[in-house]
Amino acid sequence: MNKVIYLKPEKEKSLLRKHPWVFAGAIARVRETPLPGETVEVLSHKGNWLGRGAWSPISQIRVRMWTFSPEEVVDTRFFLNRLKQALSLRQNADGSFPDAFRWVAAESDGLPGLIADRYGDWVVLQFLATGSEFWRSEIVQGIGTLFPVRGIYERSDVDVRKKEGLAPQSGLLYGEAPPMNLWIREGGFRAGIDIYQGHKTGYYLDQSENRARLGHMATGKNWLNTFSYTGGFSLAALAGGAKHVLNVDSSAHALARSEENHRQNGFDTSRYDHLEADVFKCLRGFHTEERLFDGIVLDPPKFVESKFHLEKAARAYKDINRLAFHLLRPGGVLFTFSCSGLMDAGLFQKIVADSALDAQRDVQFIHRMGQAADHPVRSTFPEGFYLKGLICRTCNEN
Ligand code: SAH
Repeated sequence: MNKVIYLKPEKEKSLLRKHPWVFAGAIARVRETPLPGETVEVLSHKGNWLGRGAWSPISQIRVRMWTFSPEEVVDTRFFLNRLKQALSLRQNADGSFPDAFRWVAAESDGLPGLIADRYGDWVVLQFLATGSEFWRSEIVQGIGTLFPVRGIYERSDVDVRKKEGLAPQSGLLYGEAPPMNLWIREGGFRAGIDIYQGHKTGYYLDQSENRARLGHMATGKNWLNTFSYTGGFSLAALAGGAKHVLNVDSSAHALARSEENHRQNGFDTSRYDHLEADVFKCLRGFHTEERLFDGIVLDPPKFVESKFHLEKAARAYKDINRLAFHLLRPGGVLFTFSCSGLMDAGLFQKIVADSALDAQRDVQFIHRMGQAADHPVRSTFPEGFYLKGLICRTCNEN
């Protein structure tokens, strides 16, 4: 029998709306203390059954819900079913799978605290909460059963685990260790993935559709790709016929990998450059030099770590967007992004609009962008929506 927790009066509302989190403050009593990650039955104050979830004794998110169906038991088969369902949603129309994709997007795929990304013959997992941690061997087994992998690697070396009372962890979980540089195909280019040290699980899969869109608009243009990391947007631009791309990043390591990615794709070396610099300083310098580009990508790291940083982050976004507008030729395009979940799409658009005004540019928004379809957002879990982007076009001369 699973242990039972009771909520405070009126605290069942979000669960009735199938939101997957129960905060510590909503809990009235716990009959018998569960182990970290153990499955608990969640009941309303009046004793009505609401759902079943994973107990997390330290986190403010005290329970993450696995199911709202009384007949659904949380066991090995449950994980196999959820993984199978998530996988089927990533299948191409012809039954094949993309070379690299997010297989499991945590809460939005009904598996809170679990990320699974496929890169070629390998799958990379992140166990981000006590619940997914508790069921790790069933999850690893399920992945291995459902997909012909050569290996499964763990990249749970992330800070959020601390909030769950879990230590960072990484290493091989199953099969063969991945190569230091794992080549995957995306659209018209190849990218080398560093599963061991790369950001996230190795690559920004969430930007794949936006890279493709940029590829379609790239022909003949001179691009400035800021916060370029391993060059994703640049590879898409060059594969799409861009004239030239200047990649700017502060990490020498990321730039070295980007160079390698460009070489492997066989692009003529006259078509791209790499610059190790701080983007803020670099944009200012280019503005002073009156340099102009036909297209600019602004894909900064998360500026908002908590709601207390929102104002400061808003200023940073405004700063780089204003500078970018200064550097655009008339008719030029800006791909601008924010991956901060705490900054909503409306506020981001307003910041970009204000930046255009400050730069005295007449700007049109021509597309709204988000995270790729393999990073879905459950309608009951709006927190899952984090990546937003705008394609802006400048109209005037000055
Ligand atoms: N656009 C990339 C992902 C960007 S990740 C892609 O599609 O793959 C953010 C990058 O910004 C990292 O590579 C990091 O090294 C870089 N970065 C962070 N702060 C920076 C700064 N102030 N100046 C330059 N680069 C910065």
